[in-house]
Amino acid sequence: MHSTAQREQDILALWDRAAGRARGLRDHALFAAAGAAPTDPVGTGNAALLTLRTQLFGAPWRLRAACPVCHTDCEFTADSAALAEGLAPAEVAPPRITSGGSELTLRVPTLSDLASLGAAPDSASATKLLLARCLGETPPAAIDQHALDQIEAELERCDPGAVIAFALACPDCGHAWQAVIDIAPALWAEVQAAAERTLLDVDALAREYGWSEAEVLALPHTRRAAYLQLAGAS
Ligand SMILES: [Zn+2]
Repeated sequence: MHSTAQREQDILALWDRAAGRARGLRDHALFAAAGAAPTDPVGTGNAALLTLRTQLFGAPWRLRAACPVCHTDCEFTADSAALAEGLAPAEVAPPRITSGGSELTLRVPTLSDLASLGAAPDSASATKLLLARCLGETPPAAIDQHALDQIEAELERCDPGAVIAFALACPDCGHAWQAVIDIAPALWAEVQAAAERTLLDVDALAREYGWSEAEVLALPHTRRAAYLQLAGAS
């Protein structure tokens, strides 16, 4: 993990690159900052984001998901370092399915495939668009539900890190389910919250003492906390 001051600078730099952008551009900025290429499989991109997250915030990651039955907000803690390690790409044969008696070979979706889905109005058209990109010659209209199920299972086998889910049990109603966490927006929420906290610190100390942003950021954190207390801002 980087030093506290370096991490704060890194978080602000990331925030500068992604704040105020549409979801697709923001995701792209996060993946790029994590060192993932557009041609990487989605799971590889997720692993890179998790590694970046661990560098910025440490391994324990507090996440939340709403219970699908009673809508209680369930909080849980994941380990982003262990999670990233578990996402090493599997050395497996390319995904294959049979549909209408013929065998089809898919390409594992990449980050740029994912980015292209931004324009799709709903998840059904997003699936069609993705299939058109990854299935090549076969028109997606010819794919039946059975084939879609096969595709889903094959993609999970070939790129298990593309979808990250946690087994949760609701403390309120006891319902057990797999909560899917979308890594890029979850990391963005954390980056945004941390950047806003830093900006509030700078704002409070700049008002009170007339210090510049660079001067506030250069203060050791214990001293910054002490001045914030003196300024009555914390
Ligand atoms: Zn519940």
